[in-house]
Amino acid sequence: MSTTIIMEPDIQQKLAILGGEASDEVTDVPATQSIQQGIRHATGFIYDAKQEGGGTTRLFKVLQTNACRFACKYCYTSCAIRRKRTTFKPDELSTTFVSLHQRQRVDGLFLSSGIVPDADTTMEKMLATVERLRLKEGYTGYIHLKLIPGAAYDLIARAVELADRVSLNLEAPNAERLAALAPDKEFTESMWGRMRWASQLIGRARQEGRQAARSLTTQFVVGAVGESDRELLETVQRAHRELGLWRAYFSAFHPIERSPLADQPAEDPTRALRLYQSDFMLRDYGFRYDELPFDEQGLLPRDKTPKQAWAERNLHEPIELNRASREQLLRVPGIGPRSADRIIAARRERRLRDLSQLKALGVTTSWAAPYVLLDGRWAAVQLPLW
Ligand code: SF4
Repeated sequence: MSTTIIMEPDIQQKLAILGGEASDEVTDVPATQSIQQGIRHATGFIYDAKQEGGGTTRLFKVLQTNACRFACKYCYTSCAIRRKRTTFKPDELSTTFVSLHQRQRVDGLFLSSGIVPDADTTMEKMLATVERLRLKEGYTGYIHLKLIPGAAYDLIARAVELADRVSLNLEAPNAERLAALAPDKEFTESMWGRMRWASQLIGRARQEGRQAARSLTTQFVVGAVGESDRELLETVQRAHRELGLWRAYFSAFHPIERSPLADQPAEDPTRALRLYQSDFMLRDYGFRYDELPFDEQGLLPRDKTPKQAWAERNLHEPIELNRASREQLLRVPGIGPRSADRIIAARRERRLRDLSQLKALGVTTSWAAPYVLLDGRWAAVQLPLW
């Protein structure tokens, strides 16, 4: 009679599987930016992520488990795809993280997970990992914790207490698009409703001066099920307004081998970039959603930034930079919140007369010049011919 021996993967093997698969998910940097700047580290599970207030941090990005009972069509971890499954026990994962942290390989943790056998059990296991880190290991650094759709209120509350940032990926802009993309997920209660709980819990903790997550984020898969930019940004704007969303992330769809969408072409990463730029316009530049330059199909132009497209259609009178309000400055292509503040500070000292002054203040002068006057003169005429 033969005996089958089942080998449990060791920690290094689990790390290779669960770190590698987590890295397939976009984190705190635009996908296009991470590609352009080579932000992903050679190890595959360490990422540079942007922080509120500037700067970056090296995140250990990992799944608690890659077992999942859902079959989201864009996901490498989907149960519809045969692959090796494994799970970190909370003590294994907390010890692994502490070891990386002590060796100064990482600054923080980004913990996500497949969902098995249900939302609450999964969230409990992730919380057990984070509790060990906070309470047993005394780790006080950065933790980004994914909220599991459908998890119970007290588990969401505990996540908000323990993490620095929480997120729940909506993936699609509405229930109809989500049904095409992730048929096992439910939009209204188990996703948007859980984000609402998290937002309220963050707000209450802030009011009472209690330690809690500082921000809530979400992510969308772009270009898998025919959704328009208009649909995505309408939902993003609603999330900013109703949930106090800090940021939305956009992941250009890329097909996963053996998945139901394997034959569908990858989405152009420029589309995700234009969505990021539009979100900045809504969040930081004072634009309204109905001002975004969508075409009849609800798509943004790809050959120019959304702010350039808006300016071409709407900025018919030049803006005198020595007098313009901050709101007016932020409407000029090439001027962002930081350069607008620098312009306001600089013109208290001296009049702005030429493009070299603007360049020194961080303005993209080739974009701004067609729309501005400097001390009564068109800045455009100062542009070199070649
Ligand atoms: S719930 Fe969906 S997106 Fe999340 S791991 Fe499972 S299949 Fe992937």
